[in-house]
Formats: sequence, C-alpha cells, structure tokens
Amino acid sequence: MPTAPTGYDPTLGEKFIFVTGGVMSGLGKGITAASTGRLLANAGFDVTAVKIDPYLNVDAGTMNPFQHGEVYVLKDGAEVDLDLGNYERFLDIDMTSDHNVTTGKTYQHVIEKERAGDYLGNTVQIIPHVTDDIKRRIREAAAGHDVCIVEVGGTVGDIEGMPFLEALRQFVHEQDDDDFLLTHVTLVPYSKNGEQKTKPTQHSVKELRSIGLQPDVLVGRCEDHLDPETKEKIALFCDVPTDAVFSNPDVEDVYHVPLTVEEEGLDEYVMGRLGLADRVIPKAERDNRWRDLVTQETRGEVEVALVGKYALEDAYLSIHEALKHAGLERGVEVDVQWVDAEEMSPDHERRLRGADAVIVPGGFGVRGTDGKLEAIRYAREEGVPFLGLCLGFQLAVVEFARNVSGLTGANSSEFAEGTPHPVIDLLPEQYHVEDMGGTMRLGAYETTVEPGTLAAELYGGNCVERHRHRYEVNPEYIDRLESDGLVFSGRVNNRMETLELPEHPYFLGTQFHPEFRSRPGRASPPFLGLLDAVLDRAEVTA
Ligand code: GLN
Repeated sequence: MPTAPTGYDPTLGEKFIFVTGGVMSGLGKGITAASTGRLLANAGFDVTAVKIDPYLNVDAGTMNPFQHGEVYVLKDGAEVDLDLGNYERFLDIDMTSDHNVTTGKTYQHVIEKERAGDYLGNTVQIIPHVTDDIKRRIREAAAGHDVCIVEVGGTVGDIEGMPFLEALRQFVHEQDDDDFLLTHVTLVPYSKNGEQKTKPTQHSVKELRSIGLQPDVLVGRCEDHLDPETKEKIALFCDVPTDAVFSNPDVEDVYHVPLTVEEEGLDEYVMGRLGLADRVIPKAERDNRWRDLVTQETRGEVEVALVGKYALEDAYLSIHEALKHAGLERGVEVDVQWVDAEEMSPDHERRLRGADAVIVPGGFGVRGTDGKLEAIRYAREEGVPFLGLCLGFQLAVVEFARNVSGLTGANSSEFAEGTPHPVIDLLPEQYHVEDMGGTMRLGAYETTVEPGTLAAELYGGNCVERHRHRYEVNPEYIDRLESDGLVFSGRVNNRMETLELPEHPYFLGTQFHPEFRSRPGRASPPFLGLLDAVLDRAEVTA
C-alpha cells in the first residue's frame, strides 16, 4: 500500500502549474495538462484544475456545439467548456463554476463592484483590478489542494488572453519559486523532408517572453517523439534545460497520453521542480489502475449509432467518453457511427440499421427531430437496445404517444406550439424566463427510482445526475402513456426523469445527462446497461 502522505499539506501550501499554448489552438493542451494532473494524483497528491476561457461569454451556456463542442454541465449547474469534462474524467473529481474563469465572468464582477461604489472613486482598470480578480479566483479555486493546474485557453499572443497572462506574470512574483511552474505546449511540425521544425516553438516562446513570462517546461506536440537534437535545439533557443523539454506524440486514444508523458518523466520533473519529490509515493507503489484499465486487451467490438445533428465528435464528447468507459469496463471496443438526423441518406440509414445499439442524444430546436423520431421507432419496434438522453428521452415520449397511444400530432411544444397533444411542455418555472444564459433546469438533482424497474437494476437505488433542459413530460399525459405501457421509472415529485419499456430488451430514456458523471473505472450505469444488452443479445443470437 502507498505509504507516503496523501492529501493537502497546509505546511506546503498550494502549488500551481500554469499551462499555456503556442502556435495554434487544438493541440491538446487540456489533455496534456489533465494527464500531468493524473500522474500527480497517482503519485499521491490532491490535484484540482482551473480552466481559463478568455472569451467575453460569461459561461459556455449559450454557445453553439458546432463551434465549440458540447456544453459540459457541472454538479452545481455551471455550463462550461468541454475541457472541464476532461479534467473531471482524468482527475476523477467534481468541479464547480469557480473552476472556470472567463473574461465575461471577471469583467461582470468588476463592473458590478464599480457600480456598487466598492472601488471608492478610483479609476477601474485592467491592471490591477481585473488582474487582481483573476488571481483571486485562481487562489480560491486552488485553496485546500496540493496542486492546481491552471490552463489558459487560446494561444499566446491572442488579444483576449493578455489580461490573464499579465495576471500570471504578477503571480510569478507573488509566489515562492518552487510553488509555481509554467508549462508551454507547442507544435513541432515536420518539414517536407522529414525534419522536426522548432521555429514555431521558438517564436511562441519569444512571444511569451515579450510579456515577461519564461516557461519552465516545454511540451512539443508532434506526430512522433521529439528527436534528441530537436529537444536540444528547443532548449538552447528557449532557455530551458534539455531535460525540461518533453514530447507529446500522437496516440490512438487520449487516455494513453498520461502513459506517454510518464515514459519521458514529465511527472518526475514537475514534482522535482515544485519541491514535492520527498512526498511522492515511490514509483513501484503508485496507483496503476489507470494504466491497467486503458491498456487491457479487448475481446470484440460493439457498434453504436449516434443519431444527432452534428458530425463533429466534440459536439457529443461526453457521450463518446461514457461509451468508452463502458467499453473499458466490459473489455470491448465501442465504435460510434454518426447518423445524420437531418438528412437520413441511404448510407446513414444503413449505418443505423447496421448498428448494435442506438443513442439519441440531447439537443435543442426542431432540426433533425423527424430523423430522431424515426430512429426511436426503429429501435422500439425492432428490439434494438436504445438509450435516449434528454431530448432523446423527450422524443421517445413523443414517438410513443404518436405511434402507440395514437395521439395524432403529439409533439413537444418546443417544436410545435399549437400541437393538439403537447406531451412535452415547458417547465412551469420557465414561463417567464427571458435571459438565455444559466436559466435552464441545471445541475445535479436526486431522482427517486421505482424498485423492480430497469433503472433500479442499473443504479441499485436512487440516483443523482446532472440536468440541462427547459421542457419536461407534461403531467397531464402521464396516466395515459403509462396505461399504454410506457413506464416512468424515475421521478422527482411529478417530474418524470426516466422511462422504459418492460417488454423491450433495453429501452431507456433519461431526462438527465448521465454522460457527465461517467469516468474511466466508474462507467455510467445507463451506458453499461446498453452495452450489456448488446452483449446479451449477441450471446443469444450467436
Ligand atoms: N431542448 C430540450 C429542452 O430544453 C432538451 C434539452 C437537452 O437535450 N439538453 O428541454
């Protein structure tokens, strides 16, 4: 068993790892940062994270998933960037709104204070008022944790990021040398003749230095490992020791990144620099569960059709991850096939019918609902394992109302205000909501699960899951739908949270989003159930 002390040591105080990105966005800076955190957690430290998003939006709630990827929901109902999902999954922690710092949030707070007269007549400025607020937020989120990873979104040099980098510059002076480390993640491309090029890295470090920041660690994203000469060149031009330059090569799955950066000793270097070396759990005694889980052999493949609006994987990232977790737990590979709900071409129709299971994810707006309804009908009638999430749950109610209960024209009032049968209707507390940001039914609530149902079998009792919706099952239709065979197995008072069809091999809908609580090693029950249903079926038909 690990013998080294774990958890927060107040005599040491919090240590900070800032992570910036250079050259271009989308390099996987968040995954690099989260992987570093995973390794420190394996070594016995209590790690948390802060994601800085330098956009003017107060939060990600109003953002289009096609531009930004999915909106991730935290337990306190904060609607945040999908990177926070990566931190929750890699570190196995629950974060809160305070762990996502945006320009919008910071400015809103500073301006509100100014209006309240809190600045006592002073001119309110980016330096020091905004930068002070940024530093305060970071310190508060880190309090009580050994290590706080602070990822600055965007790329060094962006105008939006400047106040945050200036706050970092001040931070460096306010902390002891071994309490703070700056990791810069950049791109090392290959030239046509197969040479690893360091010039983009040199330029982005120059940019950092021009604002007074010197990186301590450089991580080069490259197709392959960095050559020793490449590392030496980066070290020379960027003023860091050669052993502070690390490779982060392409890997088949993001969950392998902690393993590849560990091979080069990134974790040991970081712990050494932060003065943590004497508190570290010896390598041989560290928690290896992550490695064991992600490197196991798989015994087959399951194909899942995801019937959605967006081809972009990031738009449904947590669903992809939850399926991966379930696959890891059952030792199978999960191949997700995107089926375009808006234009069900013969090719997409084939994908739907060729899959072992069907998922209809969450969503907003009428586009694609006909395709989703068709997919639900197919899964219900053909006995194909089905999971409907949020909008997918609501559309399963609509489909059942129309095709089983015979309620012609049944719909959600989100899509057809004048529908004769609004089986899905606006939540009463939403009637007078005008603001679009942060006003849905958001965050974690407990659902009472009816014993003896599929939901009870999956969860083993009541469950707490995260929500993000404005509409719900119209209570006036519950008796009618239930008398026709639909079972609402999970509820909060007269709010329907889960549905199922007892005669079907696996037909589950959830008003909540179970994908947000799924973790490697702790897969979400509805996703595990879906895979089990597929595997049971395969055994029966084999
Ligand atoms: N549009 C639906 C609602 O607001 C479903 C939301 C979702 O899928 N997250 O209730």
